[in-house]
Amino acid sequence: CGIVGYLGPKAAYPILVNGLKRLEYRGYDSAGIALLSGDEMNIYKAKGKVSDLEAVCEEKDKNGAIGIGHTRWATHGEPNQINAHPHTTSHGNLAMVHNGIIENYATLKAELIARGHSFKSETDSEVLLHLIEEIQLAGEYQLEDAVRLALKKVVGAYAIVVMAVNDPEKLVAARKSSPLAIGVADDSFFIGSDVSPFAEHTQRVIYLNDFEIATIRVNGSLTIKTVEDEVVDPFIQELDIN
Ligand code: GLU
Repeated sequence: CGIVGYLGPKAAYPILVNGLKRLEYRGYDSAGIALLSGDEMNIYKAKGKVSDLEAVCEEKDKNGAIGIGHTRWATHGEPNQINAHPHTTSHGNLAMVHNGIIENYATLKAELIARGHSFKSETDSEVLLHLIEEIQLAGEYQLEDAVRLALKKVVGAYAIVVMAVNDPEKLVAARKSSPLAIGVADDSFFIGSDVSPFAEHTQRVIYLNDFEIATIRVNGSLTIKTVEDEVVDPFIQELDIN
């Protein structure tokens, strides 16, 4: 039910956890984060509160200046640690958080299983992740292009953020019928279901529109394309919180 993301020079973990706490008001049953540090990706998840997630993370490696986080309100699959997001592929290359519902997940899942995919969770979300992986590996696509082509196949509502070990200097975020905002600071980018996770860090925000895919990169660049591959000029608004 809530999404956060961070990419910049700072440690992602505290920013993500604090951001998830700011989204707690939306309601949720489990929480998780994924951190990317070099070519290592660590994923931690917990049923229950963000404080339960913090307890899981206590003794763990929390390095990484790129990361994504999620609070889940289960729609497909019971609330438990396996069904909590972020989801990962069997190769451990991709991590994805998703809010919303993939309505045609059953058909897509049957097709993916027929092509040899095996699933870890009962969620509709994991189906989208496998589609992205299949496209990325088959065509040697950049992450944002694999996400775009996969999104053309799904029906439903989504706000997603995807991170890849084999395409590590970026985060790819997209939305349709679920809110997603990008915070732009001098040296970092933030992502949130709304601005509350990052309003303390930056006043500049881009609200993604339906069918838009944003790619934010370590080199400071941000590009937005539609699912139909049209380039969109980013519209940065100033938050007026006074
Ligand atoms: N449909 C997804 C699931 O059940 C995402 C739920 C949400 O929006 O938190 O895992």
